[in-house]
Parts: sequence; C-alpha cells; structure tokens
Amino acid sequence: MTYAYDDQNIFAKILRGEIPCSKVYESDHTLAFNDISPKTPHHVLVIPKGPYVCYDHFAQSASDAEIVDYTRAIGAICTQLGVAQGDGGKGYRMISNAGPDGVQEVPHLHVHILAGRNIGPMVM
Ligand code: IMP
Repeated sequence: MTYAYDDQNIFAKILRGEIPCSKVYESDHTLAFNDISPKTPHHVLVIPKGPYVCYDHFAQSASDAEIVDYTRAIGAICTQLGVAQGDGGKGYRMISNAGPDGVQEVPHLHVHILAGRNIGPMVM
C-alpha cells in the first residue's frame, strides 16, 4: 500500500499554523475547525494531526492512540456542539469523502460534522 501525502494541502498548512482556522477542538492527535463554507448551522471539519490522506490510509497506518483520540474527539465535538443524542441533542451527519469517486477536495483525512438543522435524506 502506498499513499502519497501532499504536505502543501490546505489542512497541512492549517496544522503548521501557516494559515488560520476557526478552531473548535484540539487534542493530542486531532484538530477540528469550522468549515470555511458551511452547509449547515454547524459544519465542523475534524482532522488527525498526522499526515493521512483519507480514512483507509489512517485505518491502516495510524497508531491505536491516534485512532482512539480521533474517534473520541468526534464524539466530544458532537457533545460540545449540543447535538449528541445522549445529551438530548437532535443529531448530526458525519461524512468523509475519499478520492476522486468520493469527490475529495482536500487530500488530508477529514470528517465533516453537519448539524443544526434537519439535513434531509442522503441525495445522490
Ligand atoms: P472535501 O470535499 O470533503 O475534501 O471538503 C473539503 C472542505 O474543506 C470543503 O467543505 C471546504 O469548504 C473546506 N475548506 C477548504 N479550505 C478551507 C479552509 O481554509 N478552512 C476551512 N475549511 C476549508
């Protein structure tokens, strides 16, 4: 398996502090910030700090500590946004686009958390 990580992608620049972001959450291995072009009242992008192109790259190459941190971060952000169902929130949608068929624009793994209104059914 080989993955070519482009360290000039925009999320790599955000991680290096070369361009700003609207930070929502940070932990040892994870950063989350508001999408620059929000599609819903809450639209947060959650990224691992490591250089992973997409989810399958992350799942195959990241350490257990990174995977646990990233997974828990997504849950913590849902709680922070007030949308976690366990807290009485109204829910959210998680999406991670990968590769050309997934129409991934930024080649650094990110999960979109979309929430704050009824998003409707998945439309393809
Ligand atoms: P993708 O299509 O899943 O790769 O989504 C990339 C997302 O990154 C899009 O929703 C963009 O609006 C978002 N985006 C691009 N540049 C920035 C930025 O500088 N800050 C925050 N979000 C960005």
